[in-house]
Amino acid sequence: MFEEIIGFIRDRYPGVETIPLHAPVFPGREKHYLEECIDSTYVSSVGPFVDAFEQAVSDFVGSRHAVAVVNGTQALFVALKLAGVEPGCEVVTQSLTFVATANAIRYAGAEPVFIDVDEETLGLSPRALQDFLQSHAVSESGRLVNRLTGRPMAACLPMHTLGHPCHIEEISRICREWGLPLVEDAAESLGSYYGDRHTGTFGQLGVFSFNGNKIVTTGGGGMIITDDEGLAWRAKHLTTTAKVPHPWEFLHDELGYNFRMPNLNAALGLAQLENLPRFLGFKRGLADDYRRFFEERGLRFVSEPCGGLSNYWLNALILEDEQQRDAFLQTTNEAKIMTRCLWRPMHMLDMYRYCQRDALSTTNYLYRRLVNLPSGVFI
Ligand SMILES: *Cc1c(COP(=O)(O)O)cnc(C)c1O
Repeated sequence: MFEEIIGFIRDRYPGVETIPLHAPVFPGREKHYLEECIDSTYVSSVGPFVDAFEQAVSDFVGSRHAVAVVNGTQALFVALKLAGVEPGCEVVTQSLTFVATANAIRYAGAEPVFIDVDEETLGLSPRALQDFLQSHAVSESGRLVNRLTGRPMAACLPMHTLGHPCHIEEISRICREWGLPLVEDAAESLGSYYGDRHTGTFGQLGVFSFNGNKIVTTGGGGMIITDDEGLAWRAKHLTTTAKVPHPWEFLHDELGYNFRMPNLNAALGLAQLENLPRFLGFKRGLADDYRRFFEERGLRFVSEPCGGLSNYWLNALILEDEQQRDAFLQTTNEAKIMTRCLWRPMHMLDMYRYCQRDALSTTNYLYRRLVNLPSGVFI
């Protein structure tokens, strides 16, 4: 059966010797904008491409504001701070995520609490979130507190796994009910929607990544989006060393960060974003092909959840058990087809083993069975 799958994948990427999981392509005005940027000499921390890229992202996703930053991890860190996460607080998130989600919580001085995901979406489970809050959260003088640890619960940080939107509307409703600020890790889900709204726009703040392996790349980069003008201003201020605008004086009015996205990277990003509709079309077609192929063989391909539109950033297959997963990874990688399993869940990593969590049964189930398949755009 694996040989058949290998043949199917090879047919999708003709002439490619080693088929990557995901690789960037530059079929649009990338070189043109980069040249324009270099010719202008504005290659560094300010320039018109940064403004244009921010505007283009906020137009695309339908947020009022977008602030470009150096990468998705620091975008998460800053978004959490702006949502009110302070040292000694807790942030509810999922264990099934890339390590940056949990790291950003620790950078803000807070503790992650790991909640299970839904099998359908691979993202944070609204029911598990509600159950956890019901059994652990109490309101103490206007603050939500974890009754086990006594720590304030400062935010909820769901992630849209592999580009599939989680049930964010329901999560948003639960967060509103409990007065818990919502920040979305939409690093993988540019081009993914829940209902008619883009992922990342449900929370007070949302975050995208433009790392080289994401659907759109700036080389390295990230974006914070929000509808709140005050938060957008704070995001810009904090990520540009908290400098008070002045033609010659250097005055910084708080501890800021140098998290700016260089103009050079924004130039690349602007051209990449212009390609996004084409990229999305290709990936949807590839996912449809995978789905048909696997369904005919009685295998479980991960499709977008009901009510959601996925960007199909990374296609995924759910195998029988861990042995079959490992055999699949071995056979395909030996055949020079890059496949991989999910990230080791956070609660299994040494630095997060101590953290509070629920039973995480779906997280463990998926980690042992899911494999990612080559999903790069080939045009
Ligand atoms: C890629 C990614 C990030 C971090 O983005 P970088 O730009 O690589 O720092 C954060 N969260 C998730 C879920 C990601 O996949």
